[in-house]
Amino acid sequence: MTDLVTLASRLAKETEGEALFDAASRGRYATDASIYQIMPLGVFVPKTARDVAIAIDIARDLQAPVLPRGGGSSQCGQTVGAALVIDTSKHLRQVLAFDRDALSVEVDPGLVLDHLNAWLKPHRLWYPVDVSTSAQATLGGMAGNNSCGSRSIAYGNMVHNVLGIDAWLADGSLLSFGPVAGLGAREREIADFVRGLAEAQRDEIESRWPTVMRRVGGYNLDIFHPRSERPYTDDGSVNLAHLLVGAEGTLAFTRSLKLKVCPLPRAKVLGVVNFPSFHAAMDAAQHIVKLAPSAVELVDRTMIELSRANPAFRPTIEAALIGAPQAILLVEFSGDDASALRRQLRALVDLMGDALRLPGSVVEVTDDASQKALWEVRKAGLNIMMSLKGDGKPVSFIEDCAVPLEHLAEYTDALTEVFRKHGSRGTWYAHASVGTLHVRPILDMRRDGATKMRAIADEAAALVHRFKGAYSGEHGDGLCRGEWIAWQFGPHLDAAFRAIKRRLDPAKLMNPGKIVDPPKMDDPRLLRFSPSYKTIALTPVFDWSAWNVQNDPATETLGAPGSGGDTTGGFAKAVEMCNNNGHCRQFDAGTMCPSYRVTRDEQHLTRGRANTLRLALSGQLGPDALTGDAVQAALDLCVGCKGCKRDCPTGVDMAKMKLEVQAQRRARHGVALKQRVFAQLPDYAGLASRLPWLFNLRDRVPGLARLSERVLGLSAGRRLPRFRRDTFWRQAPSLKLATRSELLDAARPVVLFVDTFNGHLESENAVAAALVLQAAGYAVHAARADNGHALCCGRTYLAAGMADEARAKARQLLDALLPFAQRGIAIIGLEPSCLLTLRDEMLAMGFGDDARTLAGEALLFEEFVAREARADRFHLMLRPSSRQILVHGHCHQKAFGAMPPVLEVLRLIPGAVPTLIDSSCCGMAGSFGYEASHHAVSMQMAELSLLPAVRAAPDALIVADGTSCRHQIADGAGRRALHVARVLADHLVLTASPSLRPWAATS
Ligand SMILES: Cc1cc2nc3c(=O)[nH]c(=O)nc-3n(C[C@H](O)[C@H](O)[C@H](O)COP(=O)(O)OP(=O)(O)OC[C@H]3O[C@@H](n4cnc5c(N)ncnc54)[C@H](O)[C@@H]3O)c2cc1C
Ligand code: SF4
Ligand code: SF4
Repeated sequence: MTDLVTLASRLAKETEGEALFDAASRGRYATDASIYQIMPLGVFVPKTARDVAIAIDIARDLQAPVLPRGGGSSQCGQTVGAALVIDTSKHLRQVLAFDRDALSVEVDPGLVLDHLNAWLKPHRLWYPVDVSTSAQATLGGMAGNNSCGSRSIAYGNMVHNVLGIDAWLADGSLLSFGPVAGLGAREREIADFVRGLAEAQRDEIESRWPTVMRRVGGYNLDIFHPRSERPYTDDGSVNLAHLLVGAEGTLAFTRSLKLKVCPLPRAKVLGVVNFPSFHAAMDAAQHIVKLAPSAVELVDRTMIELSRANPAFRPTIEAALIGAPQAILLVEFSGDDASALRRQLRALVDLMGDALRLPGSVVEVTDDASQKALWEVRKAGLNIMMSLKGDGKPVSFIEDCAVPLEHLAEYTDALTEVFRKHGSRGTWYAHASVGTLHVRPILDMRRDGATKMRAIADEAAALVHRFKGAYSGEHGDGLCRGEWIAWQFGPHLDAAFRAIKRRLDPAKLMNPGKIVDPPKMDDPRLLRFSPSYKTIALTPVFDWSAWNVQNDPATETLGAPGSGGDTTGGFAKAVEMCNNNGHCRQFDAGTMCPSYRVTRDEQHLTRGRANTLRLALSGQLGPDALTGDAVQAALDLCVGCKGCKRDCPTGVDMAKMKLEVQAQRRARHGVALKQRVFAQLPDYAGLASRLPWLFNLRDRVPGLARLSERVLGLSAGRRLPRFRRDTFWRQAPSLKLATRSELLDAARPVVLFVDTFNGHLESENAVAAALVLQAAGYAVHAARADNGHALCCGRTYLAAGMADEARAKARQLLDALLPFAQRGIAIIGLEPSCLLTLRDEMLAMGFGDDARTLAGEALLFEEFVAREARADRFHLMLRPSSRQILVHGHCHQKAFGAMPPVLEVLRLIPGAVPTLIDSSCCGMAGSFGYEASHHAVSMQMAELSLLPAVRAAPDALIVADGTSCRHQIADGAGRRALHVARVLADHLVLTASPSLRPWAATS
């Protein structure tokens, strides 16, 4: 037994890295994108390469196995094990050396592929192993798995593109693996040893080794007797580094990699071939590859339909379809000579029309943007498939078997029949060019899934054998395919693999149980979900019943909401939608996940949070863990931006989950004064606006800010929003707003939902909105509660976990607005987080159809204006503007796809050319950025892209619809940002009184 206390304390003492040994941290590293879960001994996050070396030494001293890890996006359980997991992705991510002439680059193992390619782009180069997980996959992990991209037919797999690897053996020695001709003494000994094995096994290699390019199972013993369709090196020489490629961290720990980079092709064209049957598509692949494409990728009927059902993908996929094809192949040609590419595309059209008798089946896509959009749809394939609700999930275990192209059609037909026999079905997609098709049958691992998995695996293996293919063709062996290595390669080659392992890692300390001595793939003790998986009993505050369903694996139809038997009313099943694919580990696209972008900690990642919640809800973190500190710590930096709701492929809505947990926690532990100060703002805003001198004292009297930091946790480094006497409500009488009865009689009625922030703190926005709508001919009514109070959506209470108060506020708002909504009158809001609460959280608060009716009419100001303008019902006289306009989107606007309307509305101003700032969350996020404990992280989030973009455009007009976004921009860049309503109002050729235009000096 490893002495874990000593292991943890020595790591903490002797290195600069982080030693994470608590249950929640270990739990977060107990899974990857596979079906498995094993608690690691502990987790180590090294700061430097030296830390890794020391950690390997300490682990060896204590006989603790070591498991190297990058993004943890492996699908077969490669990064799951009872070992010390060493995560290189946080700190070890530099480009170490670059030789433009030699076309080589040397990198740290934790560098992410997309980041390397961004670094190479100015040199017009790229690293062409373009895995679908390019935004998460680290080069160390890609080498560990011998990963392969969509364009492997043109560029090969990892093994074809690695020039050298420096790596530590378990004994602590650091060796340089590279071309055999230049090896040092120790490395040469290893090379001679492996050569000896390969020579001894020559006949076995010849008879048993799959000759397809997509073979990643076992160790690459064939470096000394090449069997890959594509040679591993350009000149046929042997490179010992290739022994480590695909070794899954079982032989050595990579310190750095030397990679072969390629010129970026100057041009690409795409032919989308539409097929009347899946079989025809599979059969055509072998002929199409003869035209020398750079990729041939499959999208089947189910995937086409799923893509069409997704509003983001529908226009793209529909533009590529001719009629209703059963499958399409995306055939890409790339190179430097555009006219040659057009000839290749023509050859494809001719091939389909003449030889394959499918004239008129090719959609030619030549512009870059359309090609990119189609590739995004293809890349999203697996993730789209994984969004199925219920316990039956598409399971990855035979998903990358590779067969020679001439057998592809027969193989897929036979496997489809196998699925049918076992009451399941699969969706097919991916790399037709190299005979690797991804397919996942739907299995329920909590019931009979493991038994069916074994049966299907047996039959799939027999098919692979029949067609002389490779059982493990892309995603590696891990826990899932390890037991098939001996089956695939036979006892002699399996013994040779063992000999390699013994030679490099005699004490079996490197990622044990992978490739050599693997467990049974269906051992229930290794499964994340097994028949013994249970969840705690919980009455949730929100309605999660939409997730509380079961599905039929054969038809994928869902049961009725609430019928799924979840002991937490569906909350646990919503959490379990996270399949650990790691898509949230992204930095450049979308919003998800701002806290991870700043800290790079698994704990502060959507995946890490979902895993923490899953462990708590299934009792694996001890009793009452859901309301305990570990869960609180994981959720602490979640800013509730809903980036995940939009960007996570399976729709994990951590913002709402956090609200649920906050409510459960407050019910148990009560509400702290700090939380009440923010939560109850809507209650005291009216009083504060009558006594602004008193409520604004904190920022006026020296010392009070410090005191508020000590007592209430309010950051002394922040100014608080200022209360004022001239609220919207006090100005309302001079605005000539419609009364309720006038509104109901009006020809063009709208209701303005004036929230606390725009009603009391930034009244200019609400005034501006009213003026703009009136100028466009609408009768505007500003709704209030029956008791005359301003309305509130309840969000501030929700954020503090005050569920009952939130529900009371929401009910009051619903009562006030429902009569209008029932008449089809638009309810227009200004603050994105408030208005969008009506379309989101309020639907899950038990108000039934009333809430749905209100949500159906609730629109942001810009959504309403854009809708009306599109229908030619919105006409304003606006002054032209030539000023640069930069727009920052509030996270909730982005999550609800409400940014295009902002730009549309700004374009109503003659001459305006608004540009969206490519930013994630501003970091303020309601009260988050005001809290002293979050101030620094909040500013770091803003500094990721928003504030630099604002500073870089000193003369631009900055538009931001969120109150907290505007505050953050003012605090961080000293610039005033405006709500879109104010920008429009400012450009009105005005009729209203100038006294109502306090912003007049802004343009
Ligand atoms: C949705 C989805 C799509 C995918 N698409 C593809 C695809 O198109 N092509 C493809 O090939 N794969 C694909 N994968 C699988 C996976 O993303 C890739 O294999 C990826 O390259 C793994 O990178 P990682 O950084 O996550 O590695 P990890 O999962 O962290 O590690 C992978 C292996 O490498 C080892 N390793 C990591 N770092 C080191 C090191 N420093 N030294 C030694 N060993 C190390 C690990 O121990 C492990 O065995 C996909 C996975 C998902 C979830
Ligand atoms: S939260 Fe979503 S994106 Fe992140 S790992 Fe889970 S499923 Fe993937
Ligand atoms: S709501 Fe935002 S911060 Fe929270 S997990 Fe999702 S993306 Fe991350």
